[in-house]
Amino acid sequence: MLKINNLTAHYGAAQALFNVDLEVNQGETVALVGANGAGKSTLLKCLMGLVKPSGGQISLNGTDVTNTNPDQMVRLGLALSPEGREVFSHLSVLENLQLGAIPLKLSKTESSARLDEVFSRFSKLQERRDQLAGTLSGGEQQMLAMGRALMAKPSLLLLDEPSLGLAPLITDEIFATIHQLARSGTTILLVEQNAARALSASDKAYLLANGKIVEQGKSSSLLNDPILRSAFLGAASDTNPAASRLGAAGLTNIRLEKPDMQQQNFMPPFKDETELEIHQLAGLQWTVRHAYEGSAEYREKLDQANITPDTIQSLDDLQKLPFTTAEDLRKGYPFPLRSVPFEQIVRVHASSGTTGKRKVLCYTQKDLDNWTDFFARCYQMAGVTPLDRVQIAVGYGVWTAGIGFQLGCEKVGAMAVPAGPGNIDMQIQFLLDFQSTVFCSTASMALLMAEEIHKRGVADQIAIKKIIYGSERSSRSMRKKISELFGGAELFDITGLTELYGPGTGIECSEHDCIHYWGDYYLLEILDPETLQPVPEGEWGEMIVTTLCKEGAPLIRYRTRDITRKIPGRCACGSILPRHSRIKGRSDDTIKFRGVNIYPSSIDTILSTVPGIGSEYQIHLTRNNAGRDHMRLVVERAERVEVKRIPELSHEISHQIKKQLLVSVDLELTDYASLPRSEKKSQRVFDSRIQDEIV
Ligand code: ZN
Repeated sequence: MLKINNLTAHYGAAQALFNVDLEVNQGETVALVGANGAGKSTLLKCLMGLVKPSGGQISLNGTDVTNTNPDQMVRLGLALSPEGREVFSHLSVLENLQLGAIPLKLSKTESSARLDEVFSRFSKLQERRDQLAGTLSGGEQQMLAMGRALMAKPSLLLLDEPSLGLAPLITDEIFATIHQLARSGTTILLVEQNAARALSASDKAYLLANGKIVEQGKSSSLLNDPILRSAFLGAASDTNPAASRLGAAGLTNIRLEKPDMQQQNFMPPFKDETELEIHQLAGLQWTVRHAYEGSAEYREKLDQANITPDTIQSLDDLQKLPFTTAEDLRKGYPFPLRSVPFEQIVRVHASSGTTGKRKVLCYTQKDLDNWTDFFARCYQMAGVTPLDRVQIAVGYGVWTAGIGFQLGCEKVGAMAVPAGPGNIDMQIQFLLDFQSTVFCSTASMALLMAEEIHKRGVADQIAIKKIIYGSERSSRSMRKKISELFGGAELFDITGLTELYGPGTGIECSEHDCIHYWGDYYLLEILDPETLQPVPEGEWGEMIVTTLCKEGAPLIRYRTRDITRKIPGRCACGSILPRHSRIKGRSDDTIKFRGVNIYPSSIDTILSTVPGIGSEYQIHLTRNNAGRDHMRLVVERAERVEVKRIPELSHEISHQIKKQLLVSVDLELTDYASLPRSEKKSQRVFDSRIQDEIV
């Protein structure tokens, strides 16, 4: 939308801008961060035609607009909310607002319609419409300045230092408004000294110092860059040499709102994969010795396999160890695999064990500390900071979910809203009142909330930027839908299981094509679930985990039944932490149908590729008297897809399933939103055949 190339500007002989390149795309919020005198306001003035650039080019939607005058720029769709507000103190609120649309020469009706819109966004301005602007508080004047700019219905809104001189609470309110403007589709160029605020509120950012762009990138990456963070706060020293570099660039007097946002870094300290492997071998040796000496169950198993703690000399020796299964957990009920005396156990958790006894796991204080630390790492990898408000809509109680999400959130310094699952009315109320920025739930609950937000038409009043969801497989179309209905939120799939601490043992990174797992806390093997032999690198198989420092109930080659694959090589995000694909399903979920093994996720994948299809479906399996199996697939049409398209869509889905899975299905296309939604895991497979033996 806006493109600035090679822009220079002078005040007399003094050069204020040096070859600045900057780009703002439609719908983006872009932050321009810099200290006082860095050249930010000059840049805005060049854009508005208030200062003539001495070189370079400004183009708007492909048209050259360099040197266009201010009134014309307003007509072209730019509006500025200036630094220091610049409201006319002897005019009323109403008169100030009317000034914003003067260059547009609007009709009376249009002008009053726009006033109504501004008043509905800023109710305080409506209350004070006839009051003189000079009598307003600083925060109200800022709202007035923004309202005045909005009167022009700009396609690009320029905000110059909106938080300057305001108290933190008022700043919260102003930034909530900026966020809502962005969600309603306004493109924004935000100029700020308050780095933390600006970076948290924007998609990408440019750092400007002494008239030059010195740093640029995704805002979440810049905000979490440890060098930038320490430079914003610290003076140059031997331990913090970056401060001098950025200090020289004039960046150190940028305000970082919460000084204690000098966050702990939760990423592992290893330089490369070799260092990680050294740590892993030491951990494996410790675990085998600890289990052998601490647990009668493990000792018996290891003795039977002829293993002593000294057997482990390399990571390859892992393959000599016997497996641990859910059956071992049931046999050892109520305290299976316990490897420390009871006085060291500080908590137990249990999983929801659908069949038989619950799986109960013991934790020492160190186990809990480790879990909290790597859960904080999950949040950090998702770009969550102390400025975030995290609404935790997962189960609390004996389950690991709620408390895990909570401890990690508090550790990373964000504000936790422990809402628990269900209660949609309360969830929506909290989203609106607390302006939560992160929502944590199952994928089904996230979809349920997304549809409710859509139904109530409140998407542009909430502030959710990120959704962290887990414990359930999710299709691509479901993710897309959740993100859209939440007003463009970024989704992060989080993994974990109770046996292995709980949720938070890995998370999707900002590249969104893999899960990073915490290879410094556990080893991951991928084996063929039938032969229990390793699969070739990169192929799908069952995930087997071995913990490296878990004290209460260590796991040695625990069969998780989850199906995934390792992704070789290093991620584009730069993390050295190893990766696996999103969990495809469980080895015991596989549908055996006419001799073919089908993962429900392959159905997800196929449905995702057919436009016009909703994200909910059910698979019904039946067997007739002749012993022949039938699969009926019930699929929702997408919203507003007409009935007359049913034959064409049915044909396409059946064709794709036949082609990709080599099976025939009966297809039923139902209305949008006709299948049940659940805030827990939605049941999608209904198998009424005599159950085959599970693999
Ligand atoms: Zn990554």
